[in-house]
Amino acid sequence: MDKIVGIDLGTTNSSIAIVEAGMPGLLADSDGKRLMPSVVNYPSEGKPVTGHAAQRILVIEPKRTVCAIKRFIGSRLQDLSESDYSLEYQIGGNPIVVKIGNQQYTPEEISAEILSSLKAQATEVLGYPVDRAVITVPAYFNDAQRQATKRAGEMAGFSVERIINEPTAAALACGLEKLPEQSRVAVYDLGGGTFDLSILELREGIFQVLSTHGNTRLGGDDVDECICDWLLNEIGPTTGDDSMRARIREAAEKAKVDLSTLDSVEIKLPFITSDSNFECQLTRKQLESLARPVIDRTRSHCIQALADAGLKAEELCQVILVGGQTRMPLVCRLVADWFGCVDYQETRGDVRIGESFHEAKGPILNTFNNPDEAVALGAAIQG
Ligand code: ADP
Ligand code: MG
Repeated sequence: MDKIVGIDLGTTNSSIAIVEAGMPGLLADSDGKRLMPSVVNYPSEGKPVTGHAAQRILVIEPKRTVCAIKRFIGSRLQDLSESDYSLEYQIGGNPIVVKIGNQQYTPEEISAEILSSLKAQATEVLGYPVDRAVITVPAYFNDAQRQATKRAGEMAGFSVERIINEPTAAALACGLEKLPEQSRVAVYDLGGGTFDLSILELREGIFQVLSTHGNTRLGGDDVDECICDWLLNEIGPTTGDDSMRARIREAAEKAKVDLSTLDSVEIKLPFITSDSNFECQLTRKQLESLARPVIDRTRSHCIQALADAGLKAEELCQVILVGGQTRMPLVCRLVADWFGCVDYQETRGDVRIGESFHEAKGPILNTFNNPDEAVALGAAIQG
């Protein structure tokens, strides 16, 4: 077998997909999980640990556990902002290396660990080795970042057939290459720690990126942070140690995820202070008012991307939502409203609406059931 897999090498999560019998699908791990956290732990002895297992160790061994390595791939120290240094693990050198104990690892090597795990996962599920891959990168990645991603793929033992843009992969996953010539679509991608809006135009069956605008420090993590602050306020004085903070963060994210489908959740934190348990309720409405300022911050990037492409929202035929954080119903409502999406129907709750970019008939809002899986599926289709 000589099939080409598609890989979404994400800042927060990564995944691998393949087209079988004409249908693209993600390849799950042995626990049935289709997304692998992009986390690598380097124990003081033995082989690196990746994915969910590494994620669990993160709290215990923050200095030996690398997350969000995608921020550093193909970059130089001087390209980074101060907030990039606020990570628990140590970085240095030019080109960048991650320092763990007395060892040093390049971002390519660390990314290669994630890619190797995905390769092993795919081989296990399929029962035959996969050697050829299409890997996705953000549309704003420069040549050095693309080359470094390709090298990471090669280190993991892949022949990297192509590096494609994430928004292009999302559009392919929607089958949009069948749209009429010169159709334009916007891809709104809100992940864990990054946001971008890309505008694509179909020319001779190929998507061209007309513009891309975003913020590499804006995403679902910021929503979690708002919930955390709210929880800390509800809990009152605590010891404030790291492991407690990590537990609160975990509870915050879980509540957020559950509230994408439920109207209200119980948050329980046993023994959160030395002598007491904490329990409270959070409703979707409350979450929406906490999250609203974060989601609102994506709006100016949408406006800028449209301006850079010299387009008005009504000149788009579709707006595609990708990234795990777009599962939050509030995100769909706001984006539909901003772009004046015509077919979007949902009771709009109590969220203040009325900031549309225009009044006229607008694009279709295209949503996936699993918006965090679309990029890998599109890469597999390209493969
Ligand atoms: P990335 O592209 O950065 O690798 P993903 O697209 O996987 O990231 O998105 C991860 C983000 O999506 C996280 O902040 C996570 O909490 C959020 N997320 C995942 N599922 C849901 C959900 N059901 N509701 C709201 N947010 C979610
Ligand atoms: Mg992503």
